[in-house]
Amino acid sequence: MKFGTKAIHAGINPDPTTGAIMTPIYQTSTYVQDGVGNHKGYQYSRTQNPTRETLENNLAALENAKYGACFGSGIAAIDCVIKMLNPGDEVVSTNDLYGGSYRLFTTIFEKFGIIFHFVDMQDLSRVKEVVNDNTKLIWAETPSNPMMNVADIKALSSIAKSCNAWLCVDNTFATPYLQNPLDLGADLVMHSVTKYLGGHSDVIMGALVTSNETIAEEMYRIQNSSGAITSPMDCFLVLRGIKTLHLRVQRHCENAAKIVSFLVGHPGVDQVYWPGLETHKNHHVAAQQMRGFGGMISFTLKRDRLEDALEFVKRVKLFALAESLGGVESLIGHPATMTHAAIPKADRERSGVVDSLIRLSVGVEDVEDLIADLKGAL
Ligand SMILES: *Cc1c(COP(=O)(O)O)cnc(C)c1O
Repeated sequence: MKFGTKAIHAGINPDPTTGAIMTPIYQTSTYVQDGVGNHKGYQYSRTQNPTRETLENNLAALENAKYGACFGSGIAAIDCVIKMLNPGDEVVSTNDLYGGSYRLFTTIFEKFGIIFHFVDMQDLSRVKEVVNDNTKLIWAETPSNPMMNVADIKALSSIAKSCNAWLCVDNTFATPYLQNPLDLGADLVMHSVTKYLGGHSDVIMGALVTSNETIAEEMYRIQNSSGAITSPMDCFLVLRGIKTLHLRVQRHCENAAKIVSFLVGHPGVDQVYWPGLETHKNHHVAAQQMRGFGGMISFTLKRDRLEDALEFVKRVKLFALAESLGGVESLIGHPATMTHAAIPKADRERSGVVDSLIRLSVGVEDVEDLIADLKGAL
């Protein structure tokens, strides 16, 4: 089955009792059993729920995986992965990681004796330098937030295999429509479903998918034991959102390409970060492992002054000033004071998150209106 067909049909069957074509919202905590030990596959909704199960199967299919699990947020999905490790285990991650992932690693899990290394993953020699016998996980985010750095998934997977570690890819920015890390050798894929998969800015959710049986067992055990599950109502909304994922992402990519062309030629703009640009450091890797370059763009202003950046984000009218991304509507963000405020200034500037950096989540509106908005503000 090809992607668009899978988005609409994979793992989704008409409701067995009524024939309802849309998966019902099974808003129930428990399930009546015919006798002790004699049930229909569902006992308690923390452990499993038919609406959630349908979404988990659909998400697994989109990533060419065998197993999927949904969580109450993207962060809860990441939390589940790190809980698979033991004190003393080491994790190699990227130095321009999503701010919330960085906060989870450094303020929650370091306390429990897990050791994190943050390196520039565009440069594989930096990764090779820090892996050792204690490395149990390589955590990649590609393209990354907000610098749109691209890491070579295939190469990272062979480094992971050489030290018996797992490779997990945060595939939130690319979506399964543009990139399938498992096909490139990753062991595990994580999504903030909140973003493109949900697509309508109305749900917070996370997901993990894998084809590795050992990892899947741990994933379901922790999902049930730690209990960071998502609600049937939210699963229904995401199942609906995913039916148009391929259509939306096509338009996100087209709009972003046109906005990038506009920004690159503008005298008020300095750097433009987007994996589709030939000047992007790892454009050749992106062109190989992605089927399109996505709807996220970052850029800096000619004058690197905080006041100018703050004035710019105030002036735009269609781009709404907000955290998050991946919805149908265009959003604008200022990473240094918003998503990445938790990262120390010196650290963030070293990875490129300077005061004038602006991040766009390009929506699916008519691109002429979006460009006019940016032009006016510049
Ligand atoms: C938003 C985001 C997360 C966290 O997901 P939540 O659903 O907000 O908990 C993780 N990684 C990336 C790349 C994100 O954009």
